[in-house]
Amino acid sequence: MKQNKQPSLAIQIFIALVLAIFAGLLLGFAGLSGFAASYIKPFGTIFLNLVKFIVVPIVLFSIMSGIISMKDIRKVGSIGLKTIVYYLCTTAFAITFGLIGGSLFHGLFPVVATTDLTYEAAEATPFMSTLVNIFPSNFIAPMAEANMLQVIVMALLLGFSIILVGGEDAERVTAGVNSLNNVFMKAMELILKLSPIGVFCLLAPVIAENGAAIIGSLAMVLLCAYLCYFIHAVVVYSLAVKTLGGISPVTFFKGMLPAIMFAFSSASSVGTLPINLECTEKLGASKEVASFVLPLGATINMDGTAIYQGVCAIFIAACYGISLTFPQMLTIVLTATLASIGTAGVPGAGMVMLAMVLTSVGLPVDGIALVAGVDRIFDMGRTVVNITGDASCTVIVSNMEAKK
Ligand code: ASP
Repeated sequence: MKQNKQPSLAIQIFIALVLAIFAGLLLGFAGLSGFAASYIKPFGTIFLNLVKFIVVPIVLFSIMSGIISMKDIRKVGSIGLKTIVYYLCTTAFAITFGLIGGSLFHGLFPVVATTDLTYEAAEATPFMSTLVNIFPSNFIAPMAEANMLQVIVMALLLGFSIILVGGEDAERVTAGVNSLNNVFMKAMELILKLSPIGVFCLLAPVIAENGAAIIGSLAMVLLCAYLCYFIHAVVVYSLAVKTLGGISPVTFFKGMLPAIMFAFSSASSVGTLPINLECTEKLGASKEVASFVLPLGATINMDGTAIYQGVCAIFIAACYGISLTFPQMLTIVLTATLASIGTAGVPGAGMVMLAMVLTSVGLPVDGIALVAGVDRIFDMGRTVVNITGDASCTVIVSNMEAKK
């Protein structure tokens, strides 16, 4: 039983979530969505800015401190390998669910007029440039630009170097890194205290603006994506945490609720990272594993995004009167897996990467305009799946390491 009288952060976030839905619907019906966007959303943006501000040092120092605490490069390698294999397999499942779901719903998708599409698709980055861009050419730029893949490379390189240097030097730096990690974690805790307000101010304007659109013509596509999100989370993660993680799925999802609610309202995996660290540690995952696996997952593991890309590819193809062939679907499995790795854990990033998936099978990128209006609603669900996948991996790898 909790001793203090204040409701826990999870309950506070939940109340904020419910209030935001009601307030958003009311504002929408009263025609005040403009007011919500001008005067409520900025407070959500302030909160999100604070979260983004703290994310770079958290990822950098938590991965470094995770690596140093393992003390052995081989151990980092073995945890890293398990993590990458799990992330790739679950993402392949996710995109398959998305494609199957999209195909089953195919007949129910609305026929949307494909003229007048006005979406300026960003040019899809070629695979080789994506690869090159992972490696920083400057010490400061990755942090200044919050380029998380580059920050991860920095953390890995520096963490390994500290282990290799060893001796007194390493001890001093390790103490420094661990202290900085603690300080940034404390700062994050302070910022997270504001999360109920942040959640309310982020969500209410979205509901006010999109409330009617949900009931509109895209309802079937949204329903299809959400069903796939749900099935993936329930089937894949439940089975995985039960068989490999050694905990009951109910305990897992219950423990994850604060992070799930936060991800749903903020639509940012990277922003949810601090709260996800807390949830997985409470679920019994070891800190050294969590501080390595979670920041990595928040950047490269996006199962929800992969599902969304599968469903949208089929929907967009349907709108243009195209039925995707089996080889095209296989191409989508491959490109969506790569696209989800390249997707940044911030709101709206998955939609930009959809361009890459569509181009790979010759679908018009303009088709993104069909789903762009309600992207935020897709995004809230896919972010929940993204972070839940990261957490399930943490619990599993932690359990495997513990058994060793
Ligand atoms: N918003 C998602 C996330 O942060 C990424 C996406 O747009 O798919 O996980």
